Amino acid sequence: MFKRLRKDFQLSIITLMGLFGVLGISPYAIYRLLHGNYLVGTSDVIIVLSTVLAVVYAWRTGDTVKPGIYLASVFSVAATLIAINLGVNGLFWIYPLILFNFFMVSPGKAIAATLLVLVGLVIHAFWTPGSVFDSHYQMISFLVTNVMAGVLTFIFAYRTRSQRDQLQILAIQDPLTGARNRRSMNDELRIAVSSKRRHGTPYGVLVMDLDHFKRVNDQFGHHAGDKVLIDFVELIKRHCREEDRLFRFGGEEFLLLLPGTTPQGLKAAAHNLQTQVRAALHGPGGPVTTSIGGAMLGDGENWDSWLQRADKCLYRAKGAGRDCIVIDGDSTVDS
Ligand code: GH3
Ligand code: MG
Ligand code: MG
Repeated sequence: MFKRLRKDFQLSIITLMGLFGVLGISPYAIYRLLHGNYLVGTSDVIIVLSTVLAVVYAWRTGDTVKPGIYLASVFSVAATLIAINLGVNGLFWIYPLILFNFFMVSPGKAIAATLLVLVGLVIHAFWTPGSVFDSHYQMISFLVTNVMAGVLTFIFAYRTRSQRDQLQILAIQDPLTGARNRRSMNDELRIAVSSKRRHGTPYGVLVMDLDHFKRVNDQFGHHAGDKVLIDFVELIKRHCREEDRLFRFGGEEFLLLLPGTTPQGLKAAAHNLQTQVRAALHGPGGPVTTSIGGAMLGDGENWDSWLQRADKCLYRAKGAGRDCIVIDGDSTVDS
C-alpha cells in the first residue's frame, strides 16, 4: 500500500485530500446539522461521502483522473453554496479550494473552476445584496486576492507539471535517437508478459542490429555513425504501426515491440522494415543494412527467455551473411 502511495503521486494526493475531507469536514457537518443548518450540513455530508467514494474508486481502478475531476467539481459547487449561505465565514474556504483544485485536475481546468466559483459568488451577491459580502469594498478585495492566489498557483502548477512531463520523457528516452531506452524496454516487456497472461494479447519482438556499423565509425567518425543511428530510428518509427514501440537497448541494437500481432504479421513487419532500410538508410560510405531476429511471446514464457530467442535469431541472421531476417519457429532465412 505504501509502495503504491510513494509511486503514484496523484493517488497519494487524492488519498491525502480524502483524509483531510473526512477528518476536517465531518465535525462541521455534525455541527451544522445539530444547529439546524441543513443546506450547509447536507453539503458537508455530500463532500465527505464523495471524497470517500472517489478515494475508493481511485484505489480500485488506478484511475486518478476521473475521481480528480469529480472531487474538484463537488468541492467547488459545495464551497460556493456554503459561501452563499454563510457569507464571510464561508468565504475563507475558497482559498484552500483553489489549492485543492490545482492538486486534483490539470492547471487549465483548475483555473476555469476557480473563475466559475468567483463568477457564481459575484452573481449571487448582486442578486441578493448583502448576502455574501458585507460591502463592495470587501467583494473587490476578495476577488483581487483570489485572482492573485489563482494566477500564482496556476503558474506554479503549470511549471511543475511541464517539468514532471519532461522528467518522465527523459527517464524513458535515449537522448541521442529519441527511441525509448533499455530501462523502459525491460518495463514494457514485463507488461507485455503479464498482459498476455491476463488477457491473452499476442506480442512479437524484432531485434535489429545494424550491419558492419563499426566500419561507418572507423571510416567516417563517430559523428557520422550517430547520424545513421538517428536516421535509422526515424525511419523505423515512420514505418511501424502507432502502437509499436521502438527501444534502443545497445549501441546499434534496437528492439521493436509489436502488440497484437500474429506470426505472419511479425514476418511481414520485418520484411517491410528491411525493405525500407535497404531503400533509405545511407551512411557517408553508402547504404547501411540491418539484420533482424524475431520471436512471438510464448504461452507462460518470461520476458528474458523471449528476448533470448529473438537474440539467437539475430545471431543466426548475422551468420547467414547479414541483411537477413530470421524468425523463431520459422525455418526459412529471408534475405
Ligand atoms: P555486425 O554486422 O556484426 O553487427 O558488425 P558491427 O560492426 O555492427 O558490430 P559490433 O557490434 O561489433 O559494433 C558495433 C559498433 O557500434 C561498435 C561501436 O563503435 C558502435 N557504436 C555503439 N554505440 C554507438 C553510438 O552511440 N554512436 C556511434 N557512432 N557508434 C556507436
Ligand atoms: Mg552491428
Ligand atoms: Mg551490435
